[in-house]
Amino acid sequence: MEIKRATFKCSSQQLSQIPRDTLPDIAFIGRSNVGKSSLINLLTGHGSLAKVSGTPGKTRLINHFLIDDRWYLVDLPGYGYARVSKSERGEFSKLITDYVFRSEKMHFLFVLVDSRLEPQAIDLRFIRLLGEHGIPFGIVFTKTDKLSRNQLESSAARYKKQLLTEWEELPPLFFASSAKRTGREEILAFIDKCLKD
Ligand code: GDP
Repeated sequence: MEIKRATFKCSSQQLSQIPRDTLPDIAFIGRSNVGKSSLINLLTGHGSLAKVSGTPGKTRLINHFLIDDRWYLVDLPGYGYARVSKSERGEFSKLITDYVFRSEKMHFLFVLVDSRLEPQAIDLRFIRLLGEHGIPFGIVFTKTDKLSRNQLESSAARYKKQLLTEWEELPPLFFASSAKRTGREEILAFIDKCLKD
């Protein structure tokens, strides 16, 4: 699948503001700085789509981008952001949990993790919640250009080991580098399949 047209639709600060039509949402989430905006720009082939709405102050909103009049690519706020106020912190903001666990539009969620890091506790806690709620999700390892093939394999193996201590099955795993422009086709093909199911 290729994306021909990607346009910014809206930013929402609460669930009631997300688009009300029936087009499916495919969403992206991860810790701040994981490479989410870069990946969104890589997937859409649009140099600055995610940055447009990713200006300070808007980063904690849900951004919907309309893709080929067929589906929405949804940029969720980063979690684990050190500078949010205590009242907002919870573990995951109300906006995130409302959307991820209550929105009926969301067809699939990509959780981005930094391939260079050990499995992070906050990512594992988020993934555990997804499993408990039966949310369809996959994991994207980002910034893979920073690792050798062996290092990447060990990094993925550490995640798999962690996940298999809790779950019998692994979610789909993807490997991406926005710098090297890799991983794009696999992710887009997967999205295409999701939209057809
Ligand atoms: P976000 O906060 O999750 O949206 O992350 P950004 O896309 O803004 O990226 C955060 C930082 O990581 C920036 O300095 C990017 O240049 C860098 N970055 C993002 N993706 C990659 C990648 O694939 N490879 C490398 N080497 N750096 C990346």
